[in-house]
Amino acid sequence: MVMRSHRSADVAGRRVLLRADLNVPLAGTQVADDSRIRAALPTVRSLLERGARVVLVTHLGRPRGMPVEGLRVAPVADRLGSLLGRPVPVAPGVVGADVEAIAARLASGSVLLLENVRFEPGEERNDSILSRRLAALADVFVNDAFGAAHRAHASTVGVAEILPAYAGDLMLAEVRALGGLLSRPAAPFVAVLGGAKVSDKLGVIDTLLDRVDALLFGGGMANTFLAAEGDEIGRSLAEPDLADRARELLGRAADRGVSLLVPDDVVVAPSPDGPALTVGRDAIPADCSAFDIGPRTARTYSAVIATAKTVFWNGPLGMAEREAFARGTRAIAEAVAACAGTTVIGGGDSVAAVRASGLTDRIDHVSTGGGASLEFLEGRVLPGVAAIPDASPADSGPA
Ligand code: ADP
Ligand code: MG
Repeated sequence: MVMRSHRSADVAGRRVLLRADLNVPLAGTQVADDSRIRAALPTVRSLLERGARVVLVTHLGRPRGMPVEGLRVAPVADRLGSLLGRPVPVAPGVVGADVEAIAARLASGSVLLLENVRFEPGEERNDSILSRRLAALADVFVNDAFGAAHRAHASTVGVAEILPAYAGDLMLAEVRALGGLLSRPAAPFVAVLGGAKVSDKLGVIDTLLDRVDALLFGGGMANTFLAAEGDEIGRSLAEPDLADRARELLGRAADRGVSLLVPDDVVVAPSPDGPALTVGRDAIPADCSAFDIGPRTARTYSAVIATAKTVFWNGPLGMAEREAFARGTRAIAEAVAACAGTTVIGGGDSVAAVRASGLTDRIDHVSTGGGASLEFLEGRVLPGVAAIPDASPADSGPA
């Protein structure tokens, strides 16, 4: 089913509580990367153009239920204001009489940003009193915060149970793109999984094994598979207690005719700062760690990606934040960008790597979700998604 869209709601003159994920990285009082603010713009702009009085709410960082000076939303309001071309005032708090008075006076077509919702101890507990106080600020609730949809918090779930709730454009786009990978991926479907640990990705590997034609592994997680197959991996990052799980996954992949590929060559070094050397997977020196896939592996993976009709990629293929170990990730980013099929990337570090390569425009869907994207692909029902009613047939006009 499809969540009902905010575009099917009559919002003119009404107060709309809009939950967005504007949890951007800060450098002091500056927004270091405004991607998430930009991703929220279509819904914000649409609501404003339709005459809504928008009360916007987000979390920022992990203040753990109390005000933290460095995590105030003022820098977010400044950047949003310059993107919208109009000032975005910040409320003196999250909820309460003062904030209610300001929200009540808000003019049609204008926006107010609440203070960091995680300053409230009730937020992460999905406290019903906080939910009611949030609901008191508006007539309608729109959730566009896909990145927070895997958490049942007051501002994602509690308030959706009180006010009429709708999904924002980003929420709908994320669920459409990621849902498409689960329900109707065009074959061949190739998934590339990297990143630090297998344990983070076991759930996704499980659901993907039933759907993909090929799984390509890289990054730290691939080391666990190399070790499980009997290679000496030196001091590489790995999870030896998952060796049995890794062998079981290799077996299941073989049973299903899924080609599960692990690196055939790797870039090793004694430490991330040490001199790098490319070696075969069976020649990792005892005093070295594998920090990237090697060029032969990158070529093999790129050739598989080139044939795909659907690609999902999560997790860098190596320690991509270091130039010496970024080549594998860059090669895969280029292969995914060049692929003619439907391409979806998720995961904080992989998305950052693709962005650094300037290739995001050539990817069909770059998920802003991180943890939420992975949980969605594990086949779990995300509480923030479940809290929004389905669209009725009458709503399903052109978006
Ligand atoms: P994402 O955020 O895209 O989901 P992860 O958070 O799972 O990705 O993984 C990213 C991290 O994995 C980075 O910090 C990177 O340095 C680390 N990493 C990747 N490959 C290796 C490796 N071979 N050895 C050690 N760390 C690695
Ligand atoms: Mg990460």
